[in-house]
Amino acid sequence: MKASIVVHGGAGGWAGQAGQPAGDDPLRRALAACEEAARAGEAIMARGGSALDAVEAAVRVLEDEPSLNAGRGSFRNLAGEVEMDALIMDGATLALGAVAIVRDVCNPVSLARRVMTDTPHTLLAAEGAARFADAIGFPRCDTRMWPLHPADAARAAGDTVGAVARDRAGNLAVAVSTGGIPRKMPGRIGDSPLAGCGGYADNASAAVAATGDGEALMKLVASKRVCDDIARGASVQAACEATVALLAQRLGASGGLIALDRAGEAGIACNTPAMPYAWAGEHGVVRSAVRTG
Ligand code: ASP
Repeated sequence: MKASIVVHGGAGGWAGQAGQPAGDDPLRRALAACEEAARAGEAIMARGGSALDAVEAAVRVLEDEPSLNAGRGSFRNLAGEVEMDALIMDGATLALGAVAIVRDVCNPVSLARRVMTDTPHTLLAAEGAARFADAIGFPRCDTRMWPLHPADAARAAGDTVGAVARDRAGNLAVAVSTGGIPRKMPGRIGDSPLAGCGGYADNASAAVAATGDGEALMKLVASKRVCDDIARGASVQAACEATVALLAQRLGASGGLIALDRAGEAGIACNTPAMPYAWAGEHGVVRSAVRTG
């Protein structure tokens, strides 16, 4: 499948999420949000914008959707607090920005972008990230006012969001954002803000975004593994499937991956009951689907 942008709403259980209003199907909401995100990213690239701008815009849409585990819909930790992680990476230059344990920012992906552009560093966490946000006048919000994620009470599998894009100039980029896993220990950082684990982009191979069991994705350096397989000649779909298979075989873990290679070919794989995703294909037409594991 050819695409200019692919976004996902998280690999997880999705069915039977406690606390859902009757008739409010979480998967349907996730698919609608994924489509809106893909459309936002594709519109930027159709105007000549970069893949980097496209993935940031797409992930901001997903962060603003309360039924997804990122930004507004973030799961709470054991102390009942929101602690978010995000990453953005430019495949053309390998420029990278990430934030971890961010508590009072609506769109962590944009703070990650500012780490990339406005600091000599690649990852800022907790108090340091908050001080940086203050220093650059980054918009803040009170996450204590946010309602619980619908799946929080059920301790369902996490649903990180991510986007990969290839712009008209052929440059690749990835962005990932998450509230982490439900009832995590305060201070826990998952795979999402770690380059090569939650996401990786390199014009020489692919842009990849991961979701699922963060501790396992870290142990496999999952996103970089997909890029390396593609650099060695694997197809993008085979590379995603191989790493998802390894996740299960080696670590008994679950998750999902989306990827776009240099030619704009997409790979989608998961071993969870569902992973909603959307993509912009030929002529910018946006479609969505649910990948089942
Ligand atoms: N990978 C995320 C984390 O471990 C959670 C998820 O994707 O569901 O923080």
